[in-house]
Amino acid sequence: MITMVYLSEDFILDKYGDLEKRLEEPSLCLNRNVYTIIITPDAKEYHGRNGCEHDPCTNKSPKSCTRKKGRLEYLGDCQSLCGEFSAMLKALGLNPDSINSKEVSNLKPYLITYMVDELFVKKRLEGSKVLTTGFPCPRCISLMIDAGISEVYFGSFKEPKPRDIDIKRAAELTSSGIHIFRISKYDDEQGRIKHKIKPFKVSSILESFFVGKARTSGEAYVRLFFDKEYQSVVRKGDDFLRENFDPFINIDSDYFVFPNKWHQ
Ligand SMILES: [Zn+2]
Ligand SMILES: [Zn+2]
Repeated sequence: MITMVYLSEDFILDKYGDLEKRLEEPSLCLNRNVYTIIITPDAKEYHGRNGCEHDPCTNKSPKSCTRKKGRLEYLGDCQSLCGEFSAMLKALGLNPDSINSKEVSNLKPYLITYMVDELFVKKRLEGSKVLTTGFPCPRCISLMIDAGISEVYFGSFKEPKPRDIDIKRAAELTSSGIHIFRISKYDDEQGRIKHKIKPFKVSSILESFFVGKARTSGEAYVRLFFDKEYQSVVRKGDDFLRENFDPFINIDSDYFVFPNKWHQ
């Protein structure tokens, strides 16, 4: 059993306020700017942000950041990790920025095994709470579910209103037993900016659809980020789908339907 430190709503709002201030800092990625804190059950805090400090895609051509094109960014040149995953790696005592660097390339198989073991076998972050300025992506959702994260507090969706795909992802989280809360801003009577927390509810029909449904595992995503061989296999599949479909489909998408010719 894990002992939980109780975190008051004021404490969470306070932490979130600090995160939100950081959004004013220049982003390391051309398309996203997200800050995250993980708070473990024993009240330790680990901070993460998206992008790669030593190799920000903002220093490169707009083409190098593949995030916006619906393509898995890790298959392109953008070495960015998400804020959520960065914070998880920090909590394991790793420097998320250096894992893909040449200096540690011969250590990488050990690092990957270590990550998988700590996150999904020993479940070192089980019961932790995640505060993040942006609603998490499907990769981080899978990582968080498999790592046993208990609560996710998020600020904004990618677009002003949640897209269908966001609702689907929210259902994926809640059907796995993760409580999700949206933190929104409002002006109080004195015109000061305040934040409030509201549970984010998903329809139970959609939720039940995801119970026990297969999804790409957190471990597969760890490998997608760091394992060159695994990346090349996924890239081949991704290229194949792109060649055969127009408009391109995102291999993350659950709406993807195979054409009849592949059913025989
Ligand atoms: Zn980028
Ligand atoms: Zn992510």
